[in-house]
Amino acid sequence: MLILFDIDGTLLRTEGAGVRAMLETFRALHGELGFSFEGVQMAGGLDRLIWTQMCMRHGLETSSHAHMQFRTAYGERLHADLTVEQTRAMPGAADLVHAAHACGAAVGLLTGNYEHTAHVKVTRAGISPTLFPFGAFGDEGATRRDLPPLAIARAESHFSRKFPPASTVIIGDTPMDVDCAKANGCLCIGVATGPMSRQELVDAGADLAVETLAETSMLIEWIKQVTVRAV
Ligand SMILES: [Mg+2]
Repeated sequence: MLILFDIDGTLLRTEGAGVRAMLETFRALHGELGFSFEGVQMAGGLDRLIWTQMCMRHGLETSSHAHMQFRTAYGERLHADLTVEQTRAMPGAADLVHAAHACGAAVGLLTGNYEHTAHVKVTRAGISPTLFPFGAFGDEGATRRDLPPLAIARAESHFSRKFPPASTVIIGDTPMDVDCAKANGCLCIGVATGPMSRQELVDAGADLAVETLAETSMLIEWIKQVTVRAV
């Protein structure tokens, strides 16, 4: 089985520090143009799309070169500014990642973050990025729905075996995580440690929705059962 973890609101929270680092990067690159994320879909969004929306709103260039410049500058800023104190691992998240490895699952990331900032955040939360040897990231698709096939392909090339979508579980905190799982025939566990309630995640179509990831053995048992059934 393959388990793919979202980052923000699922494995950890940076309590606004990630968003602040992005805003400061816009200001450092372009000056004070009144940058704000008001009206921009942040939770569950892809960093490249967030960047594009911000550029369009402020009349800035959206070339790949401009994007690379932003991605590099934001990565450097987050690496320099994000502290361990600001980065809170969500209850049970690290234990679940370890338990998933212990029971032989392939474990990766599926996140709207860029790969570099994904690893910065996870590290600051006290979780080793080596626990996620592959993933799909926020500049690798036009929408979140493009990411599961990429993550599955990378898992397959990492382990040299097949991972059918029906034995792939995506764990995330927003309806976008549920949507990208369902659109690709994957299973989804919704966790209410982000902006959405458990009920909202149920309503969005999560196969299982929990308040936190604290019940490690229940979650592992559930994953084993549904993925065995799928094979
Ligand atoms: Mg999230």
